[in-house]
Amino acid sequence: MIGGGLAGCEAAFKAAEADTRVTLVEMKPHQFSPAHHSPLLAELVCSNSFRAGNVENAVGLLKEEMRRLSSIIMAVAVETAVPAGRSLAVDREKFATEVTDRISGHKNIRIIHKEVRHLPQEGTTVLATGPLTSDALAEDMEGLLGEEHLHFYDAIAPLVTLESIDFSRAFYASRYEPEEGDYINCPMTREEYEVFFQALTTAQQVPLKPFETPKFFEGCLPVEVMAERGFQTLLFGPMKPVGLIDPTTGQRPFAVVQLRKDNTEGTIYNMVGFQTKLAYEEQERVFRLIPGLRQAEFVRLGSIHRNTFINGPRVLTPYVQFARAEHVFVAGQISGVEGYVESAAMGLLCGINAARLAHGQALAAPPRTTALGSLVAHITASASRDFQPMNVNFGLFPPLEGRVAKKERGAAYARRALADLDKWITEVIMG
Ligand SMILES: Cc1cc2nc3c(=O)[nH]c(=O)nc-3n(C[C@H](O)[C@H](O)[C@H](O)COP(=O)(O)OP(=O)(O)OC[C@H]3O[C@@H](n4cnc5c(N)ncnc54)[C@H](O)[C@@H]3O)c2cc1C
Repeated sequence: MIGGGLAGCEAAFKAAEADTRVTLVEMKPHQFSPAHHSPLLAELVCSNSFRAGNVENAVGLLKEEMRRLSSIIMAVAVETAVPAGRSLAVDREKFATEVTDRISGHKNIRIIHKEVRHLPQEGTTVLATGPLTSDALAEDMEGLLGEEHLHFYDAIAPLVTLESIDFSRAFYASRYEPEEGDYINCPMTREEYEVFFQALTTAQQVPLKPFETPKFFEGCLPVEVMAERGFQTLLFGPMKPVGLIDPTTGQRPFAVVQLRKDNTEGTIYNMVGFQTKLAYEEQERVFRLIPGLRQAEFVRLGSIHRNTFINGPRVLTPYVQFARAEHVFVAGQISGVEGYVESAAMGLLCGINAARLAHGQALAAPPRTTALGSLVAHITASASRDFQPMNVNFGLFPPLEGRVAKKERGAAYARRALADLDKWITEVIMG
């Protein structure tokens, strides 16, 4: 196991519990990433929250699935919890200390403190070096994957649910091909664009951290940076209206925001070219000024931050191994998920499969209907052309059968997921 963060600890503990001898290699305390400061394992680099607790919420459901799979991170989080309403938050020092003690005290785990600079050529390996993987190892991975499949920054545009788009103000069409429905277009009049432009150029941005000095590529500029260049810039960039006719007016709109399918099911759409560093609440305020998105439900807001991650759908097998090096499983944030819980969840799965590989058993893939299975589908089979890391959300799940009222959906997803997970645990994991 390379990396002793949330994913690496989860993977190490899971594999060790399955009677596998594990060596966990962690570069701290000899070397720290710019965001890590504690010598302990499982350090929480920022917030102390593991987010919502109830299973009607996708992250709450993921946590319940992890509990049923005997996650060490979930067990210790509950033991070291601090009051946080409906969320699960922890005393970060107690949490990291307890995880460190359990890992270092495990009879099957040996810990080595050093930087791994090259991927091992053989031996079952779990790569869990996180969003701030050391430079030497990242360079080595570039050699294996090709530089186009390893990213160092998120440049994320917001995602909205299909059902929250107002089709009285939006229409399907591809540029110059009105009969093609690949894009959803949100047209704007000049007056609407002026209001939007004013809001966008005066909205509050998130300041960069000292170690985050992204060189924005011209093709990937934050939308607000483009807008600052002048009133016309967006009209010749992501908001250009050429080749589009609004069927309601029969005219070419003054400006257009285009949305493109972001998952195979077509339940989530991304705002094309709208990568942004605006503060989250500002994004919701400003982007809801777009007619067609006034009631938008954002399943992910935009961001640009330092984050090493792989282009999973191009380089991973369905069991989250490198296709070019199947002895290496990839866990945690570097695999293309986002967030503490999601990172640990991928560690759990990789720990299960690393042990199975070591014991000569068939690898296991969680049911597609579970939160874990939906994350795996995102990182190994996402249809998005511009793959970006993602928090777990119900938009990643296969749609429910039949019509289910909106307020019942979370519970319905959870019922289906937990029933399928229990069956999988009995038949595959324990079987
Ligand atoms: C600045 C920042 C703030 C974040 N804040 C949040 C937040 O508030 N909430 C949230 O849910 N998510 C947050 N995230 C996203 C993500 O959930 C966390 O980064 C999470 O810790 C990822 O878990 P991980 O196990 O994949 O990586 P990490 O927890 O980062 O663990 C990776 C470990 O690998 C070690 N390592 C790196 N390279 C090597 C090497 N070559 N050899 C040996 N060891 C190595 C590191 O020292 C580290 O201990 C944040 C990310 C960043 C960068």
